[in-house]
Amino acid sequence: MIYHNINQLIGQTPLLQLDIEAPNEVKIFAKLEMFNPGGSIKDRLGEHLLAAAARAGKLTKDTTIIEPTAGNTGIGLALAAKRHNLPVILVVPEQFSQEKQTLMRALGAKIVHTPSALGIKGAIKRAKELANEITPSYLPLQFNNPENPRAYYETLAPEIAAEFAESDQKIAAVVAGAGSGGTFAGLAHYFKERDPKVVTAVVEPAGSILNGGRPHKHRTEGIGVEFVPPFFAQTRPDRIYTIEDDRAFALVKQLAFEQGLFVGSSSGAALAACLELAKSLPKKSNIVTVFPDSSERYLSKAIYTFEEEEK
Ligand code: PMP
Repeated sequence: MIYHNINQLIGQTPLLQLDIEAPNEVKIFAKLEMFNPGGSIKDRLGEHLLAAAARAGKLTKDTTIIEPTAGNTGIGLALAAKRHNLPVILVVPEQFSQEKQTLMRALGAKIVHTPSALGIKGAIKRAKELANEITPSYLPLQFNNPENPRAYYETLAPEIAAEFAESDQKIAAVVAGAGSGGTFAGLAHYFKERDPKVVTAVVEPAGSILNGGRPHKHRTEGIGVEFVPPFFAQTRPDRIYTIEDDRAFALVKQLAFEQGLFVGSSSGAALAACLELAKSLPKKSNIVTVFPDSSERYLSKAIYTFEEEEK
């Protein structure tokens, strides 16, 4: 097939059965979202949010898109905004990966930094202020926007369902990390609706608050919350897994070294959760999870530190 627009390449990502030994001979399948053109799951969201806003008449020909984002959503929005020919301002807490910020700028977005200490809440506040100052502007606000889970309910979930239906296999559990909680909520809603026995598990790094812990800094990027995502009101997770950074990073390295699979730390955390969950599932069950992005955009963060080769 010949494509005519980069946005046509969003979605239909590969589903990979991992060659990894899990408890109870459980099989783990991962949707490889780094194969989206902007390199992450959030291309789906950027495309969906702007399409929904355009349909609702919220975009004029010179509307500025403003969004607080840890990074991947910014890249997804910047990519989607190209098709609408609209300017984008992304409000990013300073600590987030340089690679992501370079990518956002390369796609034409302007970046406004907020202090790391104020977290994502600080970025949300600043984005709202900017939206008041700049008119016309549109603030998708992924953290509250019901179109966020809908993006995954309408694209990612049915892709996974079709892939399993084709191979005549049943899904026992669905595992996804939570940043905004959109991926988890969209998938959980879709699969629970079809089979209430499907176990839904959400993944957070230690330092996120879903398991009742106190918020603190963590190095796993893209997941972790400072408040319970509003989307969880409709679909509460059956299980919550809180993963230490070191465990997530160890699995990232293992996947690269053993399988040639180069994923980001939120994928490592998702895999750690799958391996935990497998202990409580019937023999040979299938778990499906999402690997949101690649490690390449975190190389400056020194997850990969190797000894210098001896001369
Ligand atoms: N992993 C990565 C790398 C991400 O960028 C994000 C989005 N912040 C997530 C996981 C979590 O996705 P969601 O916002 O849908 O919970």
